Amino acid sequence: MKKAVFPGSFDPITLGHTDIIERALPLFDEIILAIGTNSNKKYMFSLEERLHFLKETFKDEPKIKVTTYKGLTVDFCKEQNAEFLLRGLRNAQDLEFEKAIGQTNYKMSGIDTLFFITSSGKSHISSTVVRDVIRNKGNYEFMVPDVVRVAP
Ligand code: ADP
Repeated sequence: MKKAVFPGSFDPITLGHTDIIERALPLFDEIILAIGTNSNKKYMFSLEERLHFLKETFKDEPKIKVTTYKGLTVDFCKEQNAEFLLRGLRNAQDLEFEKAIGQTNYKMSGIDTLFFITSSGKSHISSTVVRDVIRNKGNYEFMVPDVVRVAP
């Protein structure tokens, strides 16, 4: 069984995330969407809300599992018997950042990261921009899945 873990904060999930997940699905029997919990980080949406958004978005997709984890991402992958990590790349900045993490993870565990380049037209979308627009009461709906659109 080919399994991958897609780790992230998903604060909130965006159409950038769903793009990567949908394109990776044909390659795997299971993709685990894993929200990393970091008590030092401040989030706009609670863990329960973020879990709900992910579960609701993929409720009709049996190959997707949604969960949370603590600690090293590679330890979580081993626990789950997942051979691959999944990440998205929007721009050169993402590449530099992800390269160091991917190389470190591989050195530590032999778990490789598979990168998808964002579909054209979606690389402007980020959770940070969505949160900023929400804070300023702007129109963010075109950047997120339906379930996030009903959020306050
Ligand atoms: P983290 O806090 O770990 O960066 P995010 O939820 O912000 O978590 O991102 C998780 C993954 O989704 C990262 O690999 C990020 O590059 C990717 N991602 C986020 N937005 C997009 C987008 N618009 N297109 C492609 N990948 C994206």
